[in-house]
Amino acid sequence: MNLDQIFSAGRTVFSLEIFPPKKTSSIDSVYTTIDELSQLKPDFISVTYGAGGTGAGSLTCKMASYIKEQGTESIAHLTCVNSTREEVLAALEDLKAHGVTNILALRGDKNPDIPPKEEFRYAYELIELIASQGGFHIAAACYPEGHPECGSLAQDVRHLKQKVDAGASHLISQLFFDNEDFYRFREMTAAAGIQVPIEAGIMPVTSRSQIERMVSMCGASIPKKLSRLLSRYGDDPLALTDVAIAYATDQIIDLIGAGVDGIHLYSMNNPAVARRIYENIKNALATGRS
Ligand code: FAD
Repeated sequence: MNLDQIFSAGRTVFSLEIFPPKKTSSIDSVYTTIDELSQLKPDFISVTYGAGGTGAGSLTCKMASYIKEQGTESIAHLTCVNSTREEVLAALEDLKAHGVTNILALRGDKNPDIPPKEEFRYAYELIELIASQGGFHIAAACYPEGHPECGSLAQDVRHLKQKVDAGASHLISQLFFDNEDFYRFREMTAAAGIQVPIEAGIMPVTSRSQIERMVSMCGASIPKKLSRLLSRYGDDPLALTDVAIAYATDQIIDLIGAGVDGIHLYSMNNPAVARRIYENIKNALATGRS
């Protein structure tokens, strides 16, 4: 089903994110993960592009195509910072040939070891190119606390509007741990005239090193409550998993109550954790948006 139809159905959309396997593992290792996540009946599963320096575009395309074949809608992430226009056009052809027509269009993080190709400076330029090709549903990233490279949240929201005007018809947010940040951001986007659905990105934090990496990469702030929990349970992986599930559940239930358009769960390729969260929220998800 077209994703625009899914969002117009008036219920809280539920989606999951996965990443391609590390270079050392085969793609088969992720198929089981996809099969298990598909059992949660998400509205779609998104597949990252080269996150953490692994996984080439073709792997993303293969996984997104496999997800569709299993009966779940998929979105392929696509970055442009290290690509030429020709390379992007070839990637779009490849996606279309595999039946993948939903794209999360991103600039991508600049890698100090790889000089950017400079044909695309910002994601809105990629969005313009994809929109000009026709036949794609385009999503874009957004940042409830502002993108770390941008001077202010207000300026970042103006840049976000440019992505929507260029053709993004749905937004997926960076992870955040304080729902108040998301609510403030939602008010700012509405005031800026951004009317497309915004999914809230939620990450269950199951290891201390994971949260340290995420916070340094994306600049998400850690509320006192979470900080206390990490200090208390950070060295006990089983207890921390319980904490991660409880914290994410609490965030999601509150967001659904506040009429969020969708929940995008960063599954970290961990179906067991995703399932436990899903079990906690499935009845609330079914209540629909007010
Ligand atoms: P942009 O929208 O281009 O913004 C980048 C910066 O430029 C921001 O500071 C913005 O304010 C500024 N800017 C935008 N337009 C202008 C303008 N006209 N003038 C001046 N400044 C401007 N990375 C990956 O490598 N692979 C992935 O699969 C991936 N998936 C992601 C999924 C989600 C949901 C999110 C939130 C992020 C993801 N990322 C991924 C990370 C993303 O690539 C980085 O956050 C990157 O630094 C910015 O990408 P963007 O598309 O938001 O860029």
